[in-house]
Amino acid sequence: MVPSTTPALITPGRQALDSALHQLDQAAGHLGLDDGLRTMLATPRRSLTVSVPVRREDGRLDVVQGFRVQHNVSRGPAKGGLRFHPGTDIHEVTALAMWMTWKCALVGIPYGGAKGGVAIDPAGLTTRELERMTRRYVNEILPLIGPEKDIPAPDVGTDEQTMAWVMDTYSVNAGYSVPGVVTGKPMTLGGSLGRNGATSRGVQIAALAALGRSPEGVTVAVQGFGKVGALAAQYLSDAGCKVVAVSDVTGAVHHAGGLDIARLRGHAAQAGGVAGFPQADALSHDDLLELDVDVLVPAALEGVITEANAPRIRARMIVEGANGPTTPEADEILAANGTLVVPDILANSGGVIVSYLEWVQNMQAYSWSSGEVELKLRDLMLGAFSEVTSLAAERGLTLRQAAHVIGVGRVAEAHQMRGLYP
Ligand code: GLU
Repeated sequence: MVPSTTPALITPGRQALDSALHQLDQAAGHLGLDDGLRTMLATPRRSLTVSVPVRREDGRLDVVQGFRVQHNVSRGPAKGGLRFHPGTDIHEVTALAMWMTWKCALVGIPYGGAKGGVAIDPAGLTTRELERMTRRYVNEILPLIGPEKDIPAPDVGTDEQTMAWVMDTYSVNAGYSVPGVVTGKPMTLGGSLGRNGATSRGVQIAALAALGRSPEGVTVAVQGFGKVGALAAQYLSDAGCKVVAVSDVTGAVHHAGGLDIARLRGHAAQAGGVAGFPQADALSHDDLLELDVDVLVPAALEGVITEANAPRIRARMIVEGANGPTTPEADEILAANGTLVVPDILANSGGVIVSYLEWVQNMQAYSWSSGEVELKLRDLMLGAFSEVTSLAAERGLTLRQAAHVIGVGRVAEAHQMRGLYP
């Protein structure tokens, strides 16, 4: 084939990686890390690209690209989700793995960061095709994963059924059941109580902590009504907030008096999305982000708040349910405008915290009550929240800068204490 002369495209994944590298650079500068250590932290430890052949129902053979990146393993096994999305590429997975490293260090759980991805739209596959594709992808990355090495979990486009297939494929290869190889499993396979809604519960905990006042009547808009956004809207509404607008791929809906989130979730489940919800007006995706609300929760993909729309954002506070929704350029504009941003590695850490609790239960072959899980989640998140806000106040940093200084600092310290082999 003749090589393409088209210049390499700046993909959204490349933009996400640029954002992650920029944040690392700022934190490393603040911490005074030397160039060698900075380069180590900027570079993934292991990075695997695989080709996954998928036999389609009509007999056709498709080959899709899959990835697993372990960004850092200095503080423990690599940990991070598995994403099925057509836009996924190696750069995006690397950025997401790097954010996992800082997130685990920030909330004090003994993991490094990883991420996996397959560049495919799962909605375009039958369940059997999806199962075959998942199992084959797991086979291709088998040398990397394991309960002591690297533990996948759900992310965009994957769920507890996907995790059950991951657990089964790994276990069949091992010759015995290995529940601790993956988290976010169904309860019957060693899942943890509270894991399903954990990221959303964490978003609620972070939002209420950042508000620092009664949530009664606080207005909220949620971008993304999927696994994280729908339950975040529910939990914020349960706490007394008024969720006035939400969006998903089908559209955005708005009701100034507050949406009935339980009803809206029922409608979305039936209709395949939020569009057409009777008790609300339609809104554009862009208008949702620019609504005059107290709290905006981006809960979908990276790079939705950019220098293009940041000057028009009127929310007083942004609580990042998604990974990397705000670009560094937008961050500067928001900081100058006095918008408080509760950063992703803090606000969405509830998911990996309860993943950790699931893994600990698996390793002990024991299970905790939902009350115990929730208490531990709350403790870890609020502990990290107060460390971040204290450091930000002490050093005049944004919450994102402070969170990165803590996360990056802990990983750098682990590197330095371990020393270099050989
Ligand atoms: N995918 C989630 C995240 O980005 C959870 C990862 C995990 O539980 O390991 O934080």
